[in-house]
Amino acid sequence: MNILDLHKKTWDELSSRRDRLPHALLLSGQRGIGKFAVAKDFAASLLCENPDAQQRACGHCLACNWFAQGNHPDFRLLQPEAMTEISSGEEEGKKKASKEILIDQVRALDEFLGVGSHRGGLSIVLVNPAEAMNRNAANSILKILEEPPAGILFLLISDEQSRLLPTIRSRCQSILIGLPETPAAQAYLRASGIDDAERWLALSGGAPRLALELAEKNGSGQGSWLPTLLTHLKQGAQHDPLRAAGDIDKLLREQKGALSLRQIIDTLQKWLIDLTQAANSLPVRYFLANNGEISALAAKIPSTRLVRAYRKLATQRREAEQPVNGRLFLEGVFLDYRDLFSPRPGE
Ligand SMILES: [Zn+2]
Repeated sequence: MNILDLHKKTWDELSSRRDRLPHALLLSGQRGIGKFAVAKDFAASLLCENPDAQQRACGHCLACNWFAQGNHPDFRLLQPEAMTEISSGEEEGKKKASKEILIDQVRALDEFLGVGSHRGGLSIVLVNPAEAMNRNAANSILKILEEPPAGILFLLISDEQSRLLPTIRSRCQSILIGLPETPAAQAYLRASGIDDAERWLALSGGAPRLALELAEKNGSGQGSWLPTLLTHLKQGAQHDPLRAAGDIDKLLREQKGALSLRQIIDTLQKWLIDLTQAANSLPVRYFLANNGEISALAAKIPSTRLVRAYRKLATQRREAEQPVNGRLFLEGVFLDYRDLFSPRPGE
């Protein structure tokens, strides 16, 4: 079972457009559902010289071999340098890799776009994720999309398409990729060797690739961060904000690009949602394994405070993407969290 089996509807929709492709397709949907895998497979199938009856890439032809090795001459992947470095391992003391897609990366497409296809088919540029383009890069892509050369397909992937330039969005045909069905997503996780599929899928809000990533990291010890965060959050009124900030900041440094401040904030948001659920006598949504602890904590917090705290965190989530002092930022976030439990007169 692979990720395409979970997105059959999207695949059919993409396949139905093969003969009348636009210059740009925007594939958007929740983070971690497998958009990148779908887009890559779609690109591979378009470049494949012998696709099968379902229009999937054959995996054997010359084009498929090139694609698998990452050097098909008619394919380019634009993504932040930091994402490439996670997989290749970052060297100590090197300049920090950018988390943005930069204009130089777009400029480097000039020749690619100018020469036309090597194999007589399409030339494909995959942008992952499109919201990672900084202002200049986005404007530069926009210029290309305004007068696209013939035979070019841009595949833009987006977790948050509201953050894209509206002028870019309007130049793309948009396909929204939904969450896969829960039983299928659980089966996918089990087939990938994840024991506690239900728990990890809930924690990732139903997004199977995110669930896989969380389970693989936090099940092993190597790169594990969730247990540390939960140990701090579970302490409630005894929670020590400065120690929590220190511990998480240390993990962020150790794991460099592999763990982000935003992931921490996302997880904290889910924890607050579950506290709010419990405060309203509803079952938790994300932390299935911590139902009891969450209920006990929720009983100590006035629910109006939870709503306020959630709103504030939603604002802070944006700040977490800017280069901030991570340690100070976390101290603020964790101080707010402990404040949820401190008694105040009149409440
Ligand atoms: Zn092939």
